[in-house]
Amino acid sequence: MSEPSIFTRIINREIPSDIVFEDDRVIAFRDIAPQAPVHLLVVPKTEQYANVVELAAGDPALLAHMVDTANNLASEHANGEFRLVFNNGATAGQTIFHVHAHVLAGGLEEGNLA
Ligand code: 5GP
Repeated sequence: MSEPSIFTRIINREIPSDIVFEDDRVIAFRDIAPQAPVHLLVVPKTEQYANVVELAAGDPALLAHMVDTANNLASEHANGEFRLVFNNGATAGQTIFHVHAHVLAGGLEEGNLA
């Protein structure tokens, strides 16, 4: 068995985080190094999928639930508009291989992009 991911350790409350939402399938918390006024991570509770391509192929309903969760959180924490980022692969900036969506919002209008 490989070590649990950092995000699984957050889900299991082994690492503290600022959790803003949780249900039976996903958890959302504030990114520790925010790149926008609102920067949340939406993470499936399963770490079965390393990236969004695997998730889309294996459980598209879970991917749709992540998008829905991002939309709800953007309404709660910003004006409802948001940027959704999935880094896919190390050379694209992915550092944690437990699929997650970055929800970036607030003050990202043209000319002020992160
Ligand atoms: P990636 O680069 O894999 O797309 O995104 C990983 C994200 O996780 C980064 O934005 C990073 O700041 C965030 N992160 C890494 N470790 C922790 C942590 O322990 N707690 C929280 N809240 N975020 C983390």
